[in-house]
Parts: sequence; structure tokens; C-alpha cells
Amino acid sequence: MEFDQIEVPDEGQAVEVIDEEADELEVPENPIVPILYGDGIGTDVGPAAQQVMDAAAAATGREISWMRVYAGETAREMYDGENLPEDTVEALRKFRIAIKGPLTTPVGAGFRSLNVALRKRLDTYSNVRPTYHLDGVPSPVKNPGQMDMVTFRENTEDVYAGIEWEEGTEEVEQVKEFVEGEMGFDNTIHDGAVGIGVKPITEFGTKRLVRKAIDYALEHDRDSVTLVHKGNIMKFTEGQFRDWGYEVAAEEYGDEVITEDTLWEEQDGEQPDDAVVVNDRIADNMLQQILTRTDQYDVIATMNLNGDYLSDACGAQIGGLGIAPGANFGDARCLAEPVHGSAPKYAGQDKVNPTAMMLSGVLLFDYMGWGDAAELIKDAVEETISSKKVTYDLHRQIEGGEKLATSEFADAVVENIETLA
Ligand code: NAP
Repeated sequence: MEFDQIEVPDEGQAVEVIDEEADELEVPENPIVPILYGDGIGTDVGPAAQQVMDAAAAATGREISWMRVYAGETAREMYDGENLPEDTVEALRKFRIAIKGPLTTPVGAGFRSLNVALRKRLDTYSNVRPTYHLDGVPSPVKNPGQMDMVTFRENTEDVYAGIEWEEGTEEVEQVKEFVEGEMGFDNTIHDGAVGIGVKPITEFGTKRLVRKAIDYALEHDRDSVTLVHKGNIMKFTEGQFRDWGYEVAAEEYGDEVITEDTLWEEQDGEQPDDAVVVNDRIADNMLQQILTRTDQYDVIATMNLNGDYLSDACGAQIGGLGIAPGANFGDARCLAEPVHGSAPKYAGQDKVNPTAMMLSGVLLFDYMGWGDAAELIKDAVEETISSKKVTYDLHRQIEGGEKLATSEFADAVVENIETLA
């Protein structure tokens, strides 16, 4: 395949798709993996994660052939002002597994989110964000070890779909007139300037996301899947998400999945060993439940906006955004990326914490079937932090720590990988 401005590495092979629907890939020992550093602190955390992933691959007898791809500011320089070049989308599409850093999105005006565009164009419909506590990481809560949740956030619809109209345009007036005049919502929108957005939640989008969450819970021996929604207010979107979620559970899993109601009505609250319980919580309640009843939650399935809020809040409990990893999954496709953004004020200072990006690499390795290399990175990061060698964000919260630059932290993790291997 020919690309315009980027080159396929001479060494290495593309992963092969065995069965797209069954999410099965064959990963060679020397795969080609696209990497997109991204904007702002992406140029700090990207190379740090790459160095650590290389070390873990080498320690387990493998090698990655990296392929640099570009979006955002670096793409604009190379591709005559383009934010998301076709080269990049095509490389990510073709090679199937990749890792990216954050991309800046201007607030209010300017271009739309490149992250959202990428997730939609690659149809990586589930954004998975595990939040677990690593030994030694300071936390604002008393028992951070109780947090062990995995959020499955729908990635392609909700108010993120980008169907919105700007105040002052002819289109927004047309939509307002349609909603008030033809759809019977007279006197629901205040007079004067207005911006309007649309929130699509589909059966297709909901069911494939909830399926992924239940499959994950069953495969990883988790106790429950919680559908998080604001269906008391947004009945036909978020309420429908809840109903479709329960439908998937009831229609596709037989005895493997039971609802919380059944558990209490028929089993006296006694959960069968091999079954997953599906329940639901209203989103505002859920935000306090993660603090007050942290250990009762396990796998979360929710819509785009709720998922974004909830996973950042969970991230805060296990040490903040410098720690929280994530990955976008589609069918036979994974694009790993940390939860945090481009933190422009720290860009290029070799200062921020690369742990979130490294642990996103752990998710990618797990998906590739490289569980041993994934475990090595996780253990080495934990070992480094436990020995109080940390970046500024954790250093300000612990006594007697050694403050390291991003690159020094990466070196320390590599050293631990080599010791642990
Ligand atoms: P942010 O970039 O995540 O930064 C918010 C704060 O979180 C930072 O000021 C810093 O806190 C802390 N933080 C983030 N990453 C860290 C790291 N690696 N190590 C240590 N601390 C870290 O959020 P934002 O300022 O709201 O957003 C900035 C830009 O990023 C926006 O354009 C937004 O659209 C974009 N964004 C992109 C993605 C993505 O690409 N997936 C995700 C979210 C946001 P302290 O200053 O308190 O130390």
C-alpha cells in the first residue's frame, strides 16, 4: 500500500484478521504498529511509552516495527494545513492495532474533535477505561485499593455525534421552528439566541457496546455490569439505553447473566459463581456511589458523555489523569490512548507523567495476546512508583519522593523491566 507522506517500515508484518466479527486477529512476533504522538504533552509521553513497550517486547522475545503517523498540529505542518490526513486514517485502518497520544480540540469555535472523528471513522465503538490502583500511588481517598472498575463508554453517538447548530445561523432557526412548530414543543426554548444539539442513541449502538461489556465481564470473571444512565429525565435516549441493555442481557446470555432484581427475588441475594449480575444506576447517583460504595462496582456500560465524566472521576481516585489508561476497540481493531488530554501548558517540558500512556500500551499488549509483556510493564511501573521515583504530579502528594522528568521515569521503568524479566 502506498501512502503519501509516511512510510511503511521495511521490517515487520501487519497483523492478520482471522474473523472480524469474532474479534480475532493473528499477531506476528514482529508486528507493524502505528504510533501517533499527538499534540501538547503527546510528544513527551509518546516516546516514553514507546521506549517502555520496546523494552517489554524485547524482554519477551519480540520486536515492534513502529510506524509514525500524524494528526493535529504535526499533521498541519506536514500536510498543508490538514488536521487528520487520509494517510493516518488509512494506516490505522490497515494495521488494526495502534497507540496514540492526546489531540487538542479548541473549545467553542474551530475544528471538531479529531479524537471523535477518528473513533467514528475507524468505528472503534467501545472506549474502555480500566481504573485500578497501583501500589504506592497517592490518592485523595482513604481506600484507593477498593477501586477496580472498567468503564465501557459508547464511542460513536450521543451528544458527541456532532449534530448541532450554531447560534445565529439560519439552520438553528429552522430547527427551532421545526421543534416548536411541527413537533409540538411550543414554548420550550427561551426566546433569543440559541444553540441546539441532537442526542441520538440507537439500538444498534447500545447493544453492541453492552455486549462488549458483558463479554468482558464473563471472560474476566467479574461480578457485575452496571448500566449507567440518566433515563429518569432523558427517557427516550438514556432510558432506552437502559432498556436495550437489559434486553441484550436477557436475550443473548441465558443463565450466564441475571438481573439484580432476579438475584434478590429468586436467589435471596446469593450470586451464582459463574453468573454476572446486570443492574443499572442513575448517573448522578453513580458519581457518588463510586466514592461511597467503590468496591461494589465492577464493569460499567454507559453512553459517551456519562462515560467521559465518570471515567475521569474514577481516574482521580486512583491517582489522577497521569495514571488513567484507555483504549478504543472495534471489531478486530484496537487504538490505545490515555484518558488525559494534551495539557498544553506542560508541552515539551519533559515533565508530565507518562504512566497513563504506558498503561494504555499494556491494554494494547493484552489485546495482542502479549499478556506476559503487558504484565512486565505494569509490574515495572508499579515497582518504580513504589520506590517513590515519580513525576511532578505524584511527587507533590508524597513525602520524600524523588522527582523525575518524563524521560527519566521511562528510563527507571525500563531498568525495572530488565530486572524483572
Ligand atoms: P488535560 O489535558 O487532561 O489536562 C488537565 C490536567 O490534568 C493537567 O493540567 C494536569 O493537572 C493533569 N494531567 C493531564 N495529563 C497529565 C499527565 N500525563 N501527567 C500529569 N498530570 C496530567 O485536560 P484539559 O486541559 O481539559 O484539555 C486540554 C486539551 O486536551 C483540550 O484541547 C482537550 O480537548 C484535549 N483532550 C484530548 C483528549 C484526547 O486526545 N483523547 C482527551 C481529553 C482532552 P495539573 O495541572 O493539576 O498538574
